[in-house]
Amino acid sequence: MKILYVEDEKYMARAVAQVLRKNNYSVDLAHDGESGLDLACSGLYDIVVLDVMLPKRNGISVLSAMRKQGLETPVIMLTAKSEIEDKVAGLDSGADDYLTKPFQTDELLARLRALGRRKGQLVPDNTLVFGDIEFNHNTLNLSGSGKSFRLTLKEGQLLEMLILNKGQAVSANSIIEKLWGWDSGADDGYVQVQVSFLRKKLALISETVRIKTIRGVGYLLVEETENQTDV
Ligand code: CA
Repeated sequence: MKILYVEDEKYMARAVAQVLRKNNYSVDLAHDGESGLDLACSGLYDIVVLDVMLPKRNGISVLSAMRKQGLETPVIMLTAKSEIEDKVAGLDSGADDYLTKPFQTDELLARLRALGRRKGQLVPDNTLVFGDIEFNHNTLNLSGSGKSFRLTLKEGQLLEMLILNKGQAVSANSIIEKLWGWDSGADDGYVQVQVSFLRKKLALISETVRIKTIRGVGYLLVEETENQTDV
């Protein structure tokens, strides 16, 4: 899961991001409302964590601009204890959840899991299911056919993208963006290597789940039955 965290208190932002990354979330930071809105509008994030008091544009204005543009990305608002009115305003502009500052990172992690569930994609113990495989997003454990092993973080991020986009091919570009970031210099070759690692592991653990390459489009997770012919 990819999180955008918009927070102007840089020390806190970095500390929280570190905890989220340890829990296998991929995190991008923005330190003011304008850049936060720009990033949120990329549509690349699964959840946005949005502080209310921000320079350039406050969180409530960012959120209402996101919703006006039709972005349905779940948003967790961060408000100070004294900002009860902000809570009400935030509700009106379409926040999905709130956290009052200061908060424990455990509490944030619980909210993130809850929002993931609400999207209907994650089951309670952070397990994604596709065909005969199960992937635990927290432990990176892939299991199926009575076997199980741990994926690397990149393999896990890739598998998660493929499962969450089921039925739709995922482009090499969006894989680069999620796994390495635009400015990393990663190219299609990096993607091919990770796809080939993941294919080998899927072949060991699943009878039916395969990654198909759709030429010119990207990669698609499929369940193959015997009667299906390869496209
Ligand atoms: Ca702030």
